Amino acid sequence: MILSETKPFAEILTSLENDDKVFLLGCKGCAEASKTGGLQQVKEMKEKLEAEGKEVTGSTAVDFLCQKALVRSRLTPLKEKVLAADSVLVMSCGIGVQASAASISRVCRPACNTIPLGDSRGEWPSRERCRECGDCVLDFTGGICPLTKCSKSLLNGACGGASDGRCEVTPEKPCGWELIYYRLKGLGQLDRLKVYIQPKNFAKMEIPENVIPSTLYDIEFTEDGRAK
Ligand code: SF4
Ligand code: SF4
Repeated sequence: MILSETKPFAEILTSLENDDKVFLLGCKGCAEASKTGGLQQVKEMKEKLEAEGKEVTGSTAVDFLCQKALVRSRLTPLKEKVLAADSVLVMSCGIGVQASAASISRVCRPACNTIPLGDSRGEWPSRERCRECGDCVLDFTGGICPLTKCSKSLLNGACGGASDGRCEVTPEKPCGWELIYYRLKGLGQLDRLKVYIQPKNFAKMEIPENVIPSTLYDIEFTEDGRAK
């Protein structure tokens, strides 16, 4: 399970300010359980965007948006509606946004922030793709997470140490910022690099108090909720 919360609607509208036509993409997995990306939330988002004058070219929710093969197969019948949109608003955790951005030749914008759960994700080793930072910045990076793809988690561009496209810290990996650059270039979105990404608020990377009792940390609490 990965928890997400919907970004403030004003922030979503700002990210869509240059997009008249939008395709809505939800997730029937963790996002539906989080009440951020199921069919009901997709329907509500459609109504809110249309009230703001946006044209919604189509919408759907995929069973598990983190699976690229599923994203591709479920969107194939909707290809025309996806391509008719200026961007795809993805209503899921950061992993779903990244899987969508890797699968769709359209700009994918995150509608949600992923909330830290303290590595409590069942058997799924997904930390390498989303660090659950609580304030998703994939809108500025072509759907590639700079916190996880860059070995230094740099937020505003490359360190300059890459060699032949390989990271200077972890040479077996491609430089995350080169990946971001070429993704943005392919999308005609290089101007996104001019947006300064604010330093992370690390408080948002702590497990929220109301979530702690439902994670592994549950064993640290007494039955009446006091810390042991
Ligand atoms: S920016 Fe990266 S770490 Fe933060 S929520 Fe988005 S995908 Fe996850
Ligand atoms: S080489 Fe690229 S991925 Fe490695 S630390 Fe520098 S910017 Fe980040």
